[in-house]
Amino acid sequence: MNGNAPYRGRLAPSPTGLLHLGHARTFFTAFTRASNASGTLLMRMDDLDTDRSRAEYIDATLEDLAWLGIRWTEPVIYQSRRHALYLDAWHRLAQLGWLYPCSCTRRELASIATAPHELEQQPQPDDEPIYPGTCRSASSNISHGNPGNQNWRFRVPDGEVVEFLDKNLGPQRFTAGVDFGDFLVWRRDGTPSYQLACAVDDADLAITEVVRGADLLKSTARQILILRALSQPQPAWFHCPLVTDQNNQRLAKRHDALAIRKLRAQGRTVADILHGNFGLI
Ligand code: GLU
Repeated sequence: MNGNAPYRGRLAPSPTGLLHLGHARTFFTAFTRASNASGTLLMRMDDLDTDRSRAEYIDATLEDLAWLGIRWTEPVIYQSRRHALYLDAWHRLAQLGWLYPCSCTRRELASIATAPHELEQQPQPDDEPIYPGTCRSASSNISHGNPGNQNWRFRVPDGEVVEFLDKNLGPQRFTAGVDFGDFLVWRRDGTPSYQLACAVDDADLAITEVVRGADLLKSTARQILILRALSQPQPAWFHCPLVTDQNNQRLAKRHDALAIRKLRAQGRTVADILHGNFGLI
């Protein structure tokens, strides 16, 4: 981590739905931290999921954030246009022996996801279930120089503790192989995973501090492993508490009633959205 570099942050929305109250507060925190540091704030659109990303959500996201008074440095960076960079990272990681191809089917993985011990742990909706290592010993022959039509996983150093000091939530500690397993870095449809693309972008864009929701704490541990494997420095981390609904469930894009534009249409002000209580938290 380079503590002396000028602050460079990023907003990284996924255009797969409308932004809700929780996003507004996290993005506003990112904006405020960048402004207070007289730093730069980039806008990175995480639009790699071609099935779920929509142009109308990109427009809605940019408009909602602008309405909230959040400003960023143009131009907007689209992950969908940075394929070559991710492919290069796949290649370097594969050459260094960190990756292996995985031929497990969706059905096989789904049966793992519903194993009783996983249910007890109540994994976060976005979190991958712990991979049992079925394909770990597969030969990672990369003679073709490209990932081909296969899934690729990162071989995590089992038992290694990944620690970081979160600037908001304090010391964090996750054990590879226990809190998360060998995670996807490349999908057979030819796209990099969120973990790979995010780590590569944060390094390439020289981000000094990542501000995002606390649902991504375990992703941070995975991304630290990717950054280390690529010999890249780590940014600082600042995870924001999640906004939850009346039932203590974290807000998701399906909570349309709390979408920023719906609240705005009901006459809620920017101050209400950023600081109001709504009987939720
Ligand atoms: N695009 C990701 C999301 O909306 C967040 C990425 C990040 O801040 O690293 O969940």
